Amino acid sequence: MRTEFDTDLEERLVRYAAIDTQSDEDSPSSPSTAIQLDLSRLLVEELEAMGAQEVTLTDYGTVLATIPATPGVEAPVVGLLAHVDTAPAYNANVVKPVVHRNYNGGAITFADAPDLRLSPENSPYLAEKAGDDIITASGTTLLGADDKAGVAIAMVAAKHLLDNPDIPHGKIRLAFTPDEEIGRGVDERLPADLGADFAYTFDGSKPGEIIYETFSADAALVTITGVSAHTGWAKDTMVNALYLAAKLVQTLPLATLTPETTEDRQGFIHLNEMRGNAAECELKFILRDFERDGLAAHGALLQQLCEAIAATEPRAKVTCAIRPQYRNMRYWLEEDMTPVELAREACRAVGLDPKGEPIRGGTDGSRLTEMGVPTPNIFTGMQEIHGPLEWISVQDMALATKVALELVQRAARTDG
Ligand SMILES: [Zn+2]
Repeated sequence: MRTEFDTDLEERLVRYAAIDTQSDEDSPSSPSTAIQLDLSRLLVEELEAMGAQEVTLTDYGTVLATIPATPGVEAPVVGLLAHVDTAPAYNANVVKPVVHRNYNGGAITFADAPDLRLSPENSPYLAEKAGDDIITASGTTLLGADDKAGVAIAMVAAKHLLDNPDIPHGKIRLAFTPDEEIGRGVDERLPADLGADFAYTFDGSKPGEIIYETFSADAALVTITGVSAHTGWAKDTMVNALYLAAKLVQTLPLATLTPETTEDRQGFIHLNEMRGNAAECELKFILRDFERDGLAAHGALLQQLCEAIAATEPRAKVTCAIRPQYRNMRYWLEEDMTPVELAREACRAVGLDPKGEPIRGGTDGSRLTEMGVPTPNIFTGMQEIHGPLEWISVQDMALATKVALELVQRAARTDG
């Protein structure tokens, strides 16, 4: 069933997806890639054209804008957020979005990859979407509905509110961030610049999904320094850092505590990168858990194993530096569930059953919540993200747009 938002949502997603905005974790700059600003600048123009106020592009690459409160309405300031970058995980160069109007329920084929098939067999949710308008890429790239669907949803909701000044709502702040996919989306200045009492990222999957629980995350850098010597005269002198690194890896709980052996609420220690030579090598880990205690235990275990390896070879130096990345947003949200409850009510109001599994990852909202802006994550409809089968239903995006509109009106009613 087509809604009043479908055409605008579809056109925006197609327009935004065609702009390459892939982020790059190896780049030290902020934003990590200048191409992200191509979309950010377009959003600035579009926001100004639709009558949004205080439209800015910050020097850390985030687009900010205000939709003023309806005159006479006192309410908390609500932020609506999405990220402009696409994942470095898959080719995102020259995305050619394709609209499959009134999807027939069968297999979708791709012009640029004749062997590729998208069907209810490899993406079961598609079976529920017969009759919807489905958007995919052309077979050789990701689509980037993650998170340009979120951008489109926030933009269409904003335009609807600006075009219908009689709808009662408080002040709304929009933010479109870069570099979410590489975990650098939330600049330390963002909470103050956003100025929201609470916010929502539109960066989730199936309709009804409201997420307020993410991993807590630390990163660990283990450095092993051996003793280098000429190999011809190395007897009783050389200490090979690579052998010690291999030993350390062997002592890790590989069968019980890795991403590939855990699920649901279990945490892990993941060796993500290892580089070096006989003289010195570095091992980069990420540590994940839903609980503070669990996360601390993973760090303590890694420290212990490093000490044990060091004890086998006093001439070597083994250090393990652990640094916090982000924290489970539940710690803050469970103290005041209002933002989550509003989102749940908004879902029910548009006929959706709110649900939400904890996500085994983080969002921009994890950092923002920790920094004082409670920010649960709301669905957009995106599916099979970060690969060539990525797809989204325009009608699912319309549901998310309606949820956004419902929740800003509900937020206006909560303020006593
Ligand atoms: Zn995303």
